Amino acid sequence: MFKRGHQGAALLLTAPLTALFGVIGLFMTIAAFLTCRTPDLDLPEYRLGVLSHRGWTHTIWFAVIVAAAAFIMGAGLAFPIVGIEGWVVGAVVALAAYLGVLSHLFADALTKGRGKHAIRPLYPLSASPMRLDLISSGSRIWNTAFFVLGLLTQIAALIYWSSPSIF
Ligand SMILES: [Zn+2]
Repeated sequence: MFKRGHQGAALLLTAPLTALFGVIGLFMTIAAFLTCRTPDLDLPEYRLGVLSHRGWTHTIWFAVIVAAAAFIMGAGLAFPIVGIEGWVVGAVVALAAYLGVLSHLFADALTKGRGKHAIRPLYPLSASPMRLDLISSGSRIWNTAFFVLGLLTQIAALIYWSSPSIF
């Protein structure tokens, strides 16, 4: 999956949070949106040669690392600004970041991902690939469709939050 597809998947996965929690859900959506592409730091364009594409950055353990980093940033930055307990903001941001990385794994799992390109989210605990073989990762149509669907779902979620009676 490409950039737009991953962003769309993050928007989709966090839409229920927007529907339930309004502004806080939107805040979590933004955090997930910003972290959803971190697993692809293993792409050659970032020149981190030690990482092979769709390797360990495409696991749930990497999601935990990103969430931990998000916790520290959230707790550290938010406390003096918002006046809420730092760890609360940190925990909210960490959960959102975790979902952001999970949305990446789900989106990549939808793709063909043959051979080395199959993601193994539980590696090294389990080497079984998660691959649904539904779409081609480079498909412009699918990537755009995901992005548009994600945006529309978020808009619907916001409308639901502001006046649930419409639905
Ligand atoms: Zn990826």
